[in-house]
Amino acid sequence: MNSITAGSRLIRAKGSRSAASQGRRINRSVLRIVVDFMVARNQCDKAIVSVVDPAQRAKKLDSPYNSIREMHVMRRVYCDANATTPLLPEVVEAMRPYWMEHFGNASSIHIHGQAAHRAVDQTRETLARFFKCREAEVVFNSGGTEGDNTAIFGLLRAGDHFITTSIEHSAVLRAADRVVERGVAVTFVGPQPSGLIDPMDILRAMRPETRLISVMLANNETGVLQPVGEIGKIAAQAGAFFHIDAVQGAGKVEFDVRRFGCHLCSISGHKMHGPKGVGAMYVRRGTPIEPMMVGGSHERRQRAGTENVPGIVGLGKAAALAMESLADGTIERLAGLRDRLEAGILELSGTRVNGGFDGDKRVPRTANTTNIAFDQVEGEAMVIALDLKGVAVSGGSACHSGSAEPSHVLMAMGLDKNAARASLRFSLMKTATEADVEHVLKVVPEAVERLRALSPVAAGTLG
Ligand code: PLP
Repeated sequence: MNSITAGSRLIRAKGSRSAASQGRRINRSVLRIVVDFMVARNQCDKAIVSVVDPAQRAKKLDSPYNSIREMHVMRRVYCDANATTPLLPEVVEAMRPYWMEHFGNASSIHIHGQAAHRAVDQTRETLARFFKCREAEVVFNSGGTEGDNTAIFGLLRAGDHFITTSIEHSAVLRAADRVVERGVAVTFVGPQPSGLIDPMDILRAMRPETRLISVMLANNETGVLQPVGEIGKIAAQAGAFFHIDAVQGAGKVEFDVRRFGCHLCSISGHKMHGPKGVGAMYVRRGTPIEPMMVGGSHERRQRAGTENVPGIVGLGKAAALAMESLADGTIERLAGLRDRLEAGILELSGTRVNGGFDGDKRVPRTANTTNIAFDQVEGEAMVIALDLKGVAVSGGSACHSGSAEPSHVLMAMGLDKNAARASLRFSLMKTATEADVEHVLKVVPEAVERLRALSPVAAGTLG
């Protein structure tokens, strides 16, 4: 092990003898660069940074452990973009003036309010381009959960029939449970083993009193893209309203609410490199939706509450960048990286992709997602093992993390409990690089091999 000393910091790292490894005293920022450089050059898997704070040491702490913190610096690859994404720097910059400089309430008539109002209006114009709708049809809200709830609670009354699918996000499924208690009949249409919803199953579920159909654009766990255009036509023929939860599709596929044939469409900022707690909904003109939030006359009386101006500005910037990414080849490049990742993992024995295939035929998926079952591996254990090696993935829907229940999506697709529990979702950010994918492909086989060696299933010791 080589060591680097800097101020009060001591770094020990595996690797060759670099200038930094001579034990010279260097300042903190140089130290950080050296460590990043060594990690990037694979000269060390990780550098162990021991911080010894002289001030703390002088205080004669009760326990020597309090004076030493260990921080692990290693390549981290975030493959959980379907759970959330970080803000892009451009988004942070766009939001920055709206925290302090232009802090006004968009409803105020003075100069502070005008600046905020202008920003909201400009963002509404961007979102109208994003959805391909009129500006008056864009309603800002707090994100996907609110959009999904608004569609369901805002349209359905006792005696109505509601069709949705068994692979929706819990924001739809739990809202559906709630309307059942209020006298609404609900049909949950199941997917094919490929993860696709067959529009004919929606048609078969239709009743004269069907008022609303809600189907997601892209599944959060498998990335499978649903045939929303065909479902939209079925809804139109029957005179039913159609809502799309497009939270996982936004920024990953071309958007056109007219082509989708929907009346309502929900998106969320934080799934597309925008801020958390802000989203938008397309509400087709004339859709008789009752607002969930009442109070002031914000958002044309469709959603009361002082506008989250920095959040809305951030959402707008994220949406504008998402449109650019679709046009400039970024999303295609991402699909290539996902395919490389998937193919590399499938080289391991006992692995298969969940969804994405209808027989031999590929079904369309979002560019960033793959969901893979690993035989003889426990998904949660893999998530932890990979996290320790710097790779963040999800063992199912992130919103269910902490729960041992196998994924309802994978179960609905016909996987048994064990296979569902042994599955991992890899979802890449649009900033992912080839080096990221290579790192994942290096650590996944190591983790699988180790866990399989420990597995009672693999060892044949399970009754
Ligand atoms: N719909 C889908 C498909 C999602 O994946 C999520 C979040 O994971 C939501 C809705 C909820 O969105 P939000 O976190 O903005 O409330």
